[in-house]
Amino acid sequence: MRRLRDGADGITALALVGTVAHDGEGGVADRFEDDAGVDAWLTEHFPGLPPRTAQECERLRAIRFAARSAFAAAVAPHPASRVERQRRMSDEEAARRLADAVNDLEPRVVIDIDDAVRRGLETAAEGQVLVEGALALAVTDFLTGPLAPRLRSCQAPRCVRYFVQDHGRQQWCKASCGNRARVARHAQRHR
Ligand SMILES: [Zn+2]
Repeated sequence: MRRLRDGADGITALALVGTVAHDGEGGVADRFEDDAGVDAWLTEHFPGLPPRTAQECERLRAIRFAARSAFAAAVAPHPASRVERQRRMSDEEAARRLADAVNDLEPRVVIDIDDAVRRGLETAAEGQVLVEGALALAVTDFLTGPLAPRLRSCQAPRCVRYFVQDHGRQQWCKASCGNRARVARHAQRHR
């Protein structure tokens, strides 16, 4: 049996949705665009896996689509990223995809008692079922966890990232996005 990591810290979920980024020229760069890109990303997050088949890569793109769509739902009433404002999975389908992937793990509850009581999950799943399920679980843990209320999408020009606010007034995912937004606003005022 393998212990499943608690994804509430958002590290895995944000890495998955972060495979879609802006390309610096107003478009979108997709690390999952070809199958080699999917494999390269998986090697970073699930070391030791053999390369995925084309069909397995396609299934992982669908999990990511469900994940980004769930992120878009989670930030409401704040705006979703421009990628999801253009195209997103229905809430029902995203929920079903994520739940199916987690259920396919046939997760079992484990309870640890030492100086505290902790509940975890373990699975006997391997390979593709493990990867899909672990990603879906990481997304669900994060979006139902304590950091979710601070999740926002960056509305700076070109940016398509989701991020967790450090403080309530943070609007941009990073300083360079804030600078770009200020420059754009300034240019608009002077037009
Ligand atoms: Zn940004």
